[in-house]
Amino acid sequence: MTVPFNRTHISENEFGYLAEAVRGGSTSGDGPFTRRAADLLEKLTGSGRALLTTSCTHALELSALLLDLRPGDEVIMPSFTFVSTANAYALRGAVPVFVDCRPDTLNLDERLVEAAITDRTRAVVAVHYAGVGCAMDVICGLAERHGLALIEDNAHGLGGSYRGRPLGSFGSMSAQSFHETKNVQCGEGGALLLNDAGLVARAEIVREKGTDRSRFFRGQVDRYRWVDIGSSYLSSDVLAALLTSQLESFEEIQARRHSVWRRYHEELADWAAENGVSQPMVPDGCAHPAHLYYLLLPGLDDRQAFIAHLSGRGVQAAFHYQPLHTAPAGVRYGRVAPGGCPVTEDVADRLVRLPLFADLDEAGVTYVIDAVRAHRVG
Ligand SMILES: *Cc1c(COP(=O)(O)O)cnc(C)c1O
Repeated sequence: MTVPFNRTHISENEFGYLAEAVRGGSTSGDGPFTRRAADLLEKLTGSGRALLTTSCTHALELSALLLDLRPGDEVIMPSFTFVSTANAYALRGAVPVFVDCRPDTLNLDERLVEAAITDRTRAVVAVHYAGVGCAMDVICGLAERHGLALIEDNAHGLGGSYRGRPLGSFGSMSAQSFHETKNVQCGEGGALLLNDAGLVARAEIVREKGTDRSRFFRGQVDRYRWVDIGSSYLSSDVLAALLTSQLESFEEIQARRHSVWRRYHEELADWAAENGVSQPMVPDGCAHPAHLYYLLLPGLDDRQAFIAHLSGRGVQAAFHYQPLHTAPAGVRYGRVAPGGCPVTEDVADRLVRLPLFADLDEAGVTYVIDAVRAHRVG
């Protein structure tokens, strides 16, 4: 048997909606499926307004434009995250300030944020790694006290919650991803959730090439013009059709993903303890959406040997983020917060992700678990 790291789930209405979108003739953005997908997202996240975008990367770029960042402004974020979290702000000339992560959740360490704040700091970006919420009580309080914008990179967190509140609803803006590798996907796609009503009008303009085209289509202006800077971040209604179907299947997708996650967690506990391997930690008050299942091996060599062992049995496992503060562009465009990021450097070398997708059946999960258990660390 071989088990890939990821395989996309085809939801019930996907082909039907695709045909409907293509036949309907309105394939560009803001068509009927864009509205349907946005409505579903707003319900799921409790967000005031969801704007579909071409990717999470673009949603983050849109947030950077809406913040009116200027060269030299600073944006605090974890070093342990995807490139796009930093790139979006660096593109505006802002300086990503990299803060270390917590050793237990691998999330931005809220205890280190205050020391990273300077008079140039404009925003904090919280990334909910594996969909486990950051300490939002502390982070929201810090942002408020220091007058900083709070952005969530919620690419992993759709469907998760922190103390009963949906992830994606804390920041004034939150970015979602519908890339092939995420829980809900349409190939390439994203959304910017706007939780501050004051941002909606300008966000629509910036997303539509800096024009007031959205207002024109609603009959609020008699022609549309270039009114601000912007870009083309609006996604096609064809992709929104796929996304609508996926979002309608969200509960089913999630039930399956949770079942895989739980089996790994329960059935690998003894093996992990015997082999000095750590399993993910989910703090009280965090409900995660089973986005990924990771293990922390004792060291880099152990991790590489473990990936090779699994690969030999046809199981595709993967490491994850390489620290941004030591990456070539991170060094060039960013700055590391006082104290550096020793935890990030350590966990980046030791982390392995196991296959996790909705269509991984019981036999597949058993096969992966058996393959893991057949390995001795060290
Ligand atoms: C996947 C991911 C992104 C980028 O998403 P795209 O939709 O591919 O642009 C950004 N941040 C995080 C944390 C991600 O996991």
